[in-house]
Amino acid sequence: MLEIQENIQLKDFTTFKIGGPARYFAIIKNESDLREAFIFIKSRKLPLFVLGGGSNLLVSDHGFPGLVIKNEIKGTKFIDHGKEFVTVEIGSGETLDDVVALSVIRNLAGLENLSGVPGTIGGAAVQNAGAYGVELKDRILNVKGLNSKTGKDFSFDNFDCQYGYRSSIFKKNKKFIITSIVLKLQKEFVPNIEYAGLKDQLANQGDLTRQKIRDTILQIRAEKLPDWHKLGTAGSFFKNPVVTDKKYQALLSEYADLPGFEIKKGSIKIPAGWILDKIFNLKGYREGNVGLYEKQAIVVLNFGMASGAEVLAFVEKNKKNVKDKIGIILEEEVEKLSTD
Ligand code: NAP
Repeated sequence: MLEIQENIQLKDFTTFKIGGPARYFAIIKNESDLREAFIFIKSRKLPLFVLGGGSNLLVSDHGFPGLVIKNEIKGTKFIDHGKEFVTVEIGSGETLDDVVALSVIRNLAGLENLSGVPGTIGGAAVQNAGAYGVELKDRILNVKGLNSKTGKDFSFDNFDCQYGYRSSIFKKNKKFIITSIVLKLQKEFVPNIEYAGLKDQLANQGDLTRQKIRDTILQIRAEKLPDWHKLGTAGSFFKNPVVTDKKYQALLSEYADLPGFEIKKGSIKIPAGWILDKIFNLKGYREGNVGLYEKQAIVVLNFGMASGAEVLAFVEKNKKNVKDKIGIILEEEVEKLSTD
């Protein structure tokens, strides 16, 4: 029988270390637990929120008035499909980085660039987590789960998931609760080291292996990103804005070094961290309990005692400054769980 607890502080379950109480809280270990949770919310007409690793989340100080389920659905099942590839079915509560490590040990390619991204694979499938030129969507074959409005199971192929840059059908519509994900991993290893930082670190290191890429990315991340065990953070707070080529050229005339990456014809992705650092000089900037990381300005920090309201006020102020000065609207990558 599913254990349902009451008034559990959500700050203890987020890497930001921010968030008030969940009215109800349950740990889900399998699909039958999820079914019980579904019956509970339906009978009491409660809202539902699914918590994965809590690593990309800013929870309101007022908490959440419904049921929060912490996803601990585990399991990995590898199936060999011959010379070219392997599929792996993964419980959505598995830690993404554990799955990456396992794929590297098994000499499978395709996930190594996602080394060190925190959170569960379920959260990564919602968010379409990406790093170093790889997005989880590039490997996804199928996503299964429960539709929490109808109580019916769903099974989506990659197309159905409507993946885009840090977006998906699951992000837009919270009724889909993911229970498992099937990935396709290649046996042949084709290294993807296009990102400058990665390429530089791997130069002169001899033959590339999946393990070498993983180790290098873990090392770069440890050097460039704060350790959430020590400082509250949800990693990159903002998405990198995408602008038209015309807008990019106009910005270049003022900021000649502004980096831009063409993601499709006429659409240029600009690093939000660069804007906050080089145009606004905000790297390492701190106001009370909240600030931007000294090594990467896209990362918002809770220095210990920050409330959700303080973080939001800080973020809104800086978003407004960016909009007023260069006409770009920064969007949050971090998900907000608010009662307001
Ligand atoms: P960086 O190398 O300083 O580059 C800044 C931004 O420029 C990155 O966010 C990246 O966009 C973009 N970029 C750089 N080289 C690119 C290329 N060759 N093609 C297309 N876009 C390029 O970034 P960083 O902060 O050290 O991060 C490195 C990688 O780790 C990035 O992919 C970043 O997204 C990822 N990361 C993820 C998290 C997280 O919380 N999940 C946190 C930090 C960093 P993209 O972000 O679109 O890749």
